[in-house]
Amino acid sequence: MTDETSWEGKVAIVTGGSSGIGAATAKALADKGAIVAITGRNRERLDAVAATHDNILAVQADSADASSAADVIETVVDGSGRLDLLVNNAGAGGILPISDYDEAKISQMCALNIIAPSLMVKEATPALQKSKGAIVNVSTAVSRNAAPALAHYAATKIALEHLTASWAMELAGDGIRVNTVSPGPVKSGALTGMMGLPEEMARAVEEQEASQVPLGRRGVTSDIVPWILRLGNSENDWLTGQIITVDGGWSLRS
Ligand code: NDP
Repeated sequence: MTDETSWEGKVAIVTGGSSGIGAATAKALADKGAIVAITGRNRERLDAVAATHDNILAVQADSADASSAADVIETVVDGSGRLDLLVNNAGAGGILPISDYDEAKISQMCALNIIAPSLMVKEATPALQKSKGAIVNVSTAVSRNAAPALAHYAATKIALEHLTASWAMELAGDGIRVNTVSPGPVKSGALTGMMGLPEEMARAVEEQEASQVPLGRRGVTSDIVPWILRLGNSENDWLTGQIITVDGGWSLRS
């Protein structure tokens, strides 16, 4: 799917923009003319992505820190004068069977997958009201299925999907659209990063996932990014509150 819309003169924030889906989204937006602020914790990784395009700005921030939302929005809106798109992409996951979870691990997922996007939406709303901008959240295709050992990941992401619908209703009167993309298994840093798997186990999971996808392969970031751009694009101004699952049919399995 291609999207020829120009983002010239527009400003976007992509949380978790230093790797995987977020980095690919930031590059695509920048290629189309947007100024894009990317967030993440690791300075080197942020700078490496920012170095790929003059329009990409690195804003170091830990989304789990509740004060970071106001700081990020202020930095971007003060610096660029506007905000047209917020992509709540940074997330937390992990293999967490009942025997392994504790309050800290569950709280971390709530902090990244529920609280951080909520605070970003709140802080971004005044600027998005002015631009009649959009919000795109990034969930996961496992959100609706029973997910043994991934229960808190799935539960916090389905919460984000519920928030999507409610925010869409709350913000519709302001002309702000809110949608979610729910990816299936996509090549990124997630398996060895947020899921915490050793390299060898990550490769085994990749093989297993590929065999489970009805369309015959795992995804790549370019399967997901056009949907994020399309949902964020102001020309698609009659679409809100929707969850678009992009997963090669993976979540259709019983
Ligand atoms: P990656 O590991 O490739 O990228 C994650 C990004 O998020 C990095 O830039 C990382 O930077 C950043 N990040 C992680 N924690 C924080 C934090 N506390 N504060 C700020 N930034 C943070 O993963 P993906 O691209 O795969 O994941 C992106 C989103 O896609 C997530 O929400 C994930 O749940 C979702 N998703 C991914 C799927 C997949 O198969 N890849 C499938 C379904 C959903 P740093 O570590 O430096 O902070």
